[in-house]
Formats: sequence, structure tokens, C-alpha cells
Amino acid sequence: MLKKMFNFSKELEVVFKAVVKHANHSGVCAYFVGGMVRDFLMGIEIKDTDLLIEGSAIDFIEKFAVKYKDKLDIKIKSIHKSFDTAKTLINNTEIDFASTREENYPFSGCLPVVEKTGCPIKNDLKRRDFTVNAIAAMLSIANDTLNYEIIDPYNGAEDIKKNILTVLHNKSYIDDPTRILRGLDFILRFGFDFSPDDKKLIEEYLQKPDREGLSLDRVKLTLKKLFSDPLRAKEAYEQILENKYYKIWEDEPSFKKDWAQRLYEAAALFETPSSEIFSGAIFENSKVHKPLSSNASNYEIYNFYKTFSNKDLALHYAILNDSTALFYFKKLKNVKPDITGDDLIKQGFAQGKELGCELSRRFKEKLNLIKRN
Ligand code: ATP
Ligand code: MG
Repeated sequence: MLKKMFNFSKELEVVFKAVVKHANHSGVCAYFVGGMVRDFLMGIEIKDTDLLIEGSAIDFIEKFAVKYKDKLDIKIKSIHKSFDTAKTLINNTEIDFASTREENYPFSGCLPVVEKTGCPIKNDLKRRDFTVNAIAAMLSIANDTLNYEIIDPYNGAEDIKKNILTVLHNKSYIDDPTRILRGLDFILRFGFDFSPDDKKLIEEYLQKPDREGLSLDRVKLTLKKLFSDPLRAKEAYEQILENKYYKIWEDEPSFKKDWAQRLYEAAALFETPSSEIFSGAIFENSKVHKPLSSNASNYEIYNFYKTFSNKDLALHYAILNDSTALFYFKKLKNVKPDITGDDLIKQGFAQGKELGCELSRRFKEKLNLIKRN
């Protein structure tokens, strides 16, 4: 299948043409892959620009940067040797270069071990999560026009049409159960659904989850992305409970469904990313203790909350239904004393304990005058 055009700006097209020319010159192939091709086939705006090199991405970009230093503004921001990947900024666009690679999972849920880099594209596509994300577009150039040959060994394009998420083999969720959460992300973003076979595989996995080698960091990173948009985060949080996806990391959930609405509100109220709030509710709820008694003075409220981060305030608000945390955040947090020790000394106070007491007395008075509404 030959596709004529991804919809890039003229500027970006210049960059990709240079990439293809350099690939031809170096005898390697360059591809777009994963989410970028999926989004293109779905006709939605492309978010990330990822290039896959059937060879060494680091070697490629280093030589490319030298060769095109006068024609393009190329910054290599970071390289990751063991994965043979590079993050770059070319003409002000972030472009990630990765090498094709083969991976395996010695334990269920662990981070994958890279077996080989620079392997044939089809071997690279094998390690991917869903058929819809296992499509590559090979770049070529003819008559100064970019062309793309779609490589789709798992019929992902068909699954995109059918809105179906299907893994590439039956052990996929065992290898990496965070794929269940990635799937949920695509379901909520694009209206996909797991295929009937996948539903069965997920159910089977959740009945006997293997947490021995699970990378909790990977779970948290996946949840961070899933919870990045507040409204979607609320839905995802509810679905994790409803579908028992929490079994990926724990037997019984320590977080509750009736927190969901307030967690959602808390992102805006406490000016904190929804990902931090929803992940906090799942993994840090044990940090949330009893609220203050309802007749606490403003001064007591201030002292109770003054070491809390915005996220911790948000969690108190959402988990304990504690409106005092919001009152503190909105009205007390930024209150400063009107007077300093030096001012008091000028007024005749002697340095020492008494001065400290007078300062806190005045600050307490100021705080206690503030009304809740
Ligand atoms: P998004 O639009 O959210 O960025 P994406 O599919 O590009 O979607 P990324 O996290 O950017 O998601 O990953 C890029 C590609 O890497 C995916 O399309 C998929 O092919 C592969 N991938 C990412 N995470 C996994 C995983 N846990 N298991 C297998 N393949 C993965
Ligand atoms: Mg992506």
C-alpha cells in the first residue's frame, strides 16, 4: 500500500527529505511507526514525531548532524546508548530517533530486555502492543516527493477501521500487563474496544496476575499518561475499579469510587496536574490522615497544612471530603505576617523570646480574622 502524503508543514517536509536522502546514502531504511502512523491512518492530528532507523539511530543522527549542519538547525538533546535512541530538536521540532530492536520479557511485567538493535523492521514490529500500533511507513523519495510504503504485517489498518484493539500474541498481557492500561487509554481517547479474544486474555491475566517481577515504575508511568487529562482521568479511574485492572498491582483496591468526582475537581481547584492527583489517590492514600476538628482556628489550620504540597492538599480534600484543605489553599496559604522582627525592634521590643511571641500573636490574629466565605 503506497500512501502519498502525511500532512506535514513545508519546513518539516524539508527535514524528512534530508533524513531519507541520508538514509539512502547510508544504506539504511527510515520509517515512521507506532502512534504516528496510527493517527495518520485515523485522520487525526499527529502528536509525536518518531523516526525508526533500521540500523543504529545514534550513528545515523550523529552523521546526519554533521552532514546537514549548514542546512538545518540540529540539536541532539540526549542519547540513550543501551536502546540506541536519540532525542533531537531539528528546526524547532522535537524528533525522536529510535533503532529497530528486538526485546524479550524474562519475567511477567518486568522492563523488557533489549536483545538486538538494528534488526529488520518486521522483528521490531513484533515487540509492539496492539496491531493498530504495529504499523510502519517506510520513507522514500521520488521526484523530490516523499512517499510512504505502509508495512502492516498484523492487519492493524483493518483493526483501526473496526475500532478494535488486539495484541499480537496470546502472552502479550502476561509479558506486559501495563498494555491493559495502555489499551484503556486508547479506548477512552479514540473509542476503540478490546477484541473479544483480548477481553478473555485480560480476564485470564487478572485472575492470576504475576506480580513477582512487575515494574511498578512502569505501571506508574503508564498511569501518568492515562491520567493526564482530568476528565479522562476520572473515567479511567472508575474503569480501573470497575474492571478490576488494579489487580495488575494489588489484590484489593485501597482507593474508592466515591473519591472520583472530587479528585476530578481537585485538579483545577488545587492547580495540580490530574495525573498526580489520581495516581496519588491510588498509591499514596495511606498518607492521608484524619482531618482537623471542625472548630479548629485558622491559625491551627494554617499550622496543620503549612507543610503540605498542593497535591497532598488535593488528596485531603478529595479523599476525606475535607473542605478545610480548600479553605487553607485559597485563603490562608499565602498569608504573610504584616510585620517583621526588625519592625518590632524599631518599635522598642527587645530581641528574644518575647519578640517571637509577639510576632506569632500578631500573625495568629491576622489569620483568625479571615472569613471562610
Ligand atoms: P500516543 O498517541 O499516546 O503517544 P503511542 O502509540 O504513540 O500513542 P507511545 O507511548 O508514544 O504511544 O509509544 C509509541 C509506540 O511504542 C506505540 O505505538 C507502540 O508501538 C510501542 N509501545 C509503547 N509502549 C509499549 C508497550 N508497553 N508494549 C509494546 N509496545 C509499546
Ligand atoms: Mg506516541
